[in-house]
Amino acid sequence: MKKHNFYAGPSILPEFTKQKTAEAAVDFAGTGLSVMEVSHRSKEFVAVMDEAVALVKELLKVPEGYSVLFLQGGASLSFLMAPYNLMKSKAAYLVTGSWASKAMKEAKYFGEVVEVASSKDKNFNYIPKAFEVPADADYLHITTNNTIFGTEIKTDLDVPVPMIADMSSDIFSRPIDVAKYDMIYAGAQKNLGPSGATLVIIKDEALDKTGRTIPTMLDFQTHIKNDSMFNTPSTIAVYACLQTLIWLKDKGGVEAMEKINIEKADLLYAELDRNKLFVPTVPAAEDRSRMNVTFVMAEGYEALEKEFNEFATSKGMIGLKGHRSVGGFRASIYNAMPVESVQALIDVMAEFEANH
Ligand code: PMP
Repeated sequence: MKKHNFYAGPSILPEFTKQKTAEAAVDFAGTGLSVMEVSHRSKEFVAVMDEAVALVKELLKVPEGYSVLFLQGGASLSFLMAPYNLMKSKAAYLVTGSWASKAMKEAKYFGEVVEVASSKDKNFNYIPKAFEVPADADYLHITTNNTIFGTEIKTDLDVPVPMIADMSSDIFSRPIDVAKYDMIYAGAQKNLGPSGATLVIIKDEALDKTGRTIPTMLDFQTHIKNDSMFNTPSTIAVYACLQTLIWLKDKGGVEAMEKINIEKADLLYAELDRNKLFVPTVPAAEDRSRMNVTFVMAEGYEALEKEFNEFATSKGMIGLKGHRSVGGFRASIYNAMPVESVQALIDVMAEFEANH
């Protein structure tokens, strides 16, 4: 039976990425060696890193003056590295979920943190709109897609200070205006590749302004100066990321991807709005994530949750269980998820409704 992978991360990857990485795991670039057993300083691997960086720049139209890095430590380490490197004394944070809260916590080690708004009052089921960003803040930190609670900021905000964005779960899902950000970061394990690589896009000019001494590994300058090779990168993870970037370019890039993502999300939300058994957890259409579609059983049908989970699993739908802090269901429909899989889920939901 065909498996439809709705896991939130690590999550579905393009067949192309899996196939190419499987091949390179055995014979990489005609070396007769695995990509896991060649030096990261070999000319073959340096070419992988260079191409991956170039494709990120091309696909996201990264302006001059930015560096692209493939690091380790996940988005969670970037929570710390962002303020360590970019916060002089005051930073603003928009709290739209647990990841945003975790990011904000790290900034408190470095100075005054202003929480400009939070949607915690409604269990993070909306994006706060009317908030003011202090003009003297060094940056505004946002989490563009709220992987757990299913909300998303789908445009590049207009605020009086540069932004830092955690785009772990929606990077490459739409075009972005990189110039509005001093830093963008993303753990690879959603729209890019396996876990083990973290993509960082950083404005060179924004660095070296804090007056702070930064330990070597936590200093972005270390990684910029060494082209992400100060220490050994996760070579196979970067290789897989490169394959996804090649796939993405072939599909028409982030512009084409955005169209497909809108189509997939519209299909699924329309079913959730129609089907009497389910309700989306995010009421406002403009706040609903195109990447993580969260829903619960409708009032009066709560008792069917376990049964639906088993029914969906029996039909090949994998990874639909909601995050443990929310419950219910979450269908993660990242770039690599074909529209056919979204349709298959819709059919299963409609069949389940017909049975009840
Ligand atoms: N930010 C967001 C939006 C996430 O979804 C996650 C979970 N992958 C993280 C941060 C934490 O990422 P990592 O596990 O790579 O540290």
